[in-house]
This record gives sequence, structure tokens and C-alpha cells, in this order.
Amino acid sequence: MTRPDDPQAADLAQLTRISLDTHNPICQVCGQPLHEGDDITAYAYRAAGEPAYAIGYIMCGADNHEHPTVFTRGVREYVLTGHVGACSNTRTQSTTFVLLDPIPVVTSPTTTAEPHIHPDAPTPRNPTEPTQREPTPLLTAVREHARSDGGSPREGSE
Ligand SMILES: [Zn+2]
Repeated sequence: MTRPDDPQAADLAQLTRISLDTHNPICQVCGQPLHEGDDITAYAYRAAGEPAYAIGYIMCGADNHEHPTVFTRGVREYVLTGHVGACSNTRTQSTTFVLLDPIPVVTSPTTTAEPHIHPDAPTPRNPTEPTQREPTPLLTAVREHARSDGGSPREGSE
């Protein structure tokens, strides 16, 4: 039951067979060489405005290592487990290593991050959306309007 507008399904379609962007994949934590068929854990990200995901780093095993994952506001991020695949390019006689069967283990904490919904990313709505706050009392609104006069009353630091 995959909805066509499911953002994670669309992301996984992009992340499947994403290039590991290295000819000699090694674990970023312990330095172990990784080969075709090995289990790996990959951190992938896509900045706002970018059309595609990129691999930030890879690690051996299925989420074995502890790893620092810094979620960045405005960046869509995944930690995925999967396998190493290899695509041979006979024309250039080179091998491209790719991620196969990605399964997300961590995604950007969209429910706790500041609600920032990109027009190009079908980010799920979350309950902390500003439009769902209490309406501003009329008196407060009137006073703030009187004070704002060219600037936001709470952000007048500049
Ligand atoms: Zn390792």
C-alpha cells in the first residue's frame, strides 16, 4: 500500500542504487574495507533545493557502530542500512559501488525540528505548525501592530 505521494517511498526510490561515491569503500568508523554484498550503514542527505541525495559517509554492518548524526535544519537526512552493490562500467573499465535495498533506520526528526516546509519537498505536516497555535488576543495584536511599525516587535535586534 504505497501511496504515490508518500515522501519516504519517493526518497527510497532515489536512494536505491545511489552511488557510494568512492572506488574503495571503507567503514568511516573502523576503516574496514567493504565489498560487494556486505552489509553497510549509510548516511544520506539532501539539502534544500538539491535534486538528489548524496552519501555523507558509510559504515560497516547493519547500524553496528555508534555514530554522531547531526540533523541539520532544512536538510532531509536518512541513516540507512543496506548492502553494497557494484555496477561495472565496461566502457571505462571502472566499478561504481552503490547502495542496495536501503532501509531507513533514522530519518530527520521532522516532528521536533522547527517546522520548515519546503515548497519542493512534500514534508509531512506536523502538529507544531504555527497556524495551529492559539489565535493572538485582539488586544495583543493591536499593541504589537502599534509597536511594529516597520519591524517585528520580537526581532528588533538589528
Ligand atoms: Zn566499521
